[in-house]
Amino acid sequence: MSTADWGVVDDEIVGRLRDIVGPEHVKVDDGAVAAFARDATPLYAARPDVVVMPGSAAEVAEILRLATRARVPVVPRGAGSNLAAGTLAEAGGIVLVLTRMDRIVEVNADELLAVVQTGVTTAELAAAAAADGLLYVPDPGSKTVSTVGGNVATCAGGLRGLKYGVTRNYVLGLEAVLPTGEIIRTGGRLWKDVAGYDLTRLLTGSEGTLAVITEVTVALVPMPATSRTGVAYFDSLATAGRAVAQVIADGVVPATLEFLDNKCINAVEDFAGLGLDRTAGALLLFGDDGAPDVVEQNLERMARTCEKQGASGVTMAREVAESEALLAARRCALPALARLAPVTVLEDVGVPRPRIADMVARIDDIAERHGISVATFGHAGDGNLHPTAVLDPSDGDAAERTKAAIGEIFSAAIELGGTITGEHGVGAAKLPWLQDRLGAEQMALLSRIKTAFDPAGILNPGKTGSQEL
Ligand SMILES: Cc1cc2nc3c(=O)[nH]c(=O)nc-3n(C[C@H](O)[C@H](O)[C@H](O)COP(=O)(O)OP(=O)(O)OC[C@H]3O[C@@H](n4cnc5c(N)ncnc54)[C@H](O)[C@@H]3O)c2cc1C
Repeated sequence: MSTADWGVVDDEIVGRLRDIVGPEHVKVDDGAVAAFARDATPLYAARPDVVVMPGSAAEVAEILRLATRARVPVVPRGAGSNLAAGTLAEAGGIVLVLTRMDRIVEVNADELLAVVQTGVTTAELAAAAAADGLLYVPDPGSKTVSTVGGNVATCAGGLRGLKYGVTRNYVLGLEAVLPTGEIIRTGGRLWKDVAGYDLTRLLTGSEGTLAVITEVTVALVPMPATSRTGVAYFDSLATAGRAVAQVIADGVVPATLEFLDNKCINAVEDFAGLGLDRTAGALLLFGDDGAPDVVEQNLERMARTCEKQGASGVTMAREVAESEALLAARRCALPALARLAPVTVLEDVGVPRPRIADMVARIDDIAERHGISVATFGHAGDGNLHPTAVLDPSDGDAAERTKAAIGEIFSAAIELGGTITGEHGVGAAKLPWLQDRLGAEQMALLSRIKTAFDPAGILNPGKTGSQEL
């Protein structure tokens, strides 16, 4: 059967869905369905036939059994905040919205873990952990809206990657529903468990193509006693890059190590007036958390290293409030850039840390050749860059030029030994470049894994593992 032979979402299917979840949780009217034709990825849209909001794993299982039998596509969706067109129903069918499953089942300070349903937001989980003096480490910029299930499905990152790792480092166990309707539990409450293939890791980052995650068990860590931040200005990203290398060579693993290029510095300054040095080629935010005396020492060491490596100015926050003010420069980068034009395309590539400056130079060159505006900020500590294009889609072929430039940016990242996505995922938007990153053999293996989980190919078609639509 070819992927074009999808089942039709007819009145009978809609009636069965209403029986499973209750009529109020099935949306077919134009307005409601249209709201799910987009996620946070600009320049992409695809409309589902029906939107279904299950309330339990058992309901998810019934829906998936029905969809597999009728061969109707199903696209799992949390908050829809992904930036890779990962929740677009490219073949129509059902968008399965999991935000009703929003219960914090348990926060266990003795075992340093929490169990949550998939639709709990990242910020709600972090707040519940903090109430018990614990830290849930993954902190994507979208945390007030993004769901824990969505974070697991994309293996979300954030600002703490170098010192603490990303979502995959904190997922201990999952409850997930296979497309054929079986409910499985992978991993659990154990830090050490090597029984069988590591399906927890396989599902983490699987972007809704292998199974629907319904419950997550995550590891927590004790809340650091304090955290502090400093800022250093450099004449160029290349000089900032040398400072980053030396900070790490000195044996400090910073909790924060973020950079902004000159275009970002100026956009942030126009937006928020933080008193940043507009003439600097790059700004580096560095910081640490932990015991106050260690944090003090590490911050001091990082500041001295930046100075020795040629920083034109270095400021260290004395208090938490001052640290927050410095971090605002990074937090403002996206809203500041978003003000510059009607559409903001926030991209995400990764390169080995020593290649960051080369990558930014390549990005600037590509942007100039295509006549588009791209500013870059990102995680200097883990080599994850966010080139961000701003455009007015009504301006001739601006959207096409932007897409072409982004494609070249992906190719440049691969050439520099990097990747087409550090944390946002592949979705539909980056699928055309996945083979360049992985090679034909791995692509074929991904396809076979996909078929083992999802023999009818119903789960999130048009994304990783599927055949062409
Ligand atoms: C302003 C902004 C800032 C951001 N900052 C960051 C950042 O710092 N770091 C980062 O990594 N990302 C960031 N993102 C991207 C995005 O928020 C993350 O990818 C997030 O993890 C998506 O969560 P979600 O609940 O919105 O998932 P969705 O967008 O709804 O879905 C994302 C993917 O996961 C799948 N999925 C969702 N739920 C499930 C489930 N229960 N079971 C199986 N599959 C599922 C979907 O099919 C889709 O492929 C940002 C986005 C925005 C808009």
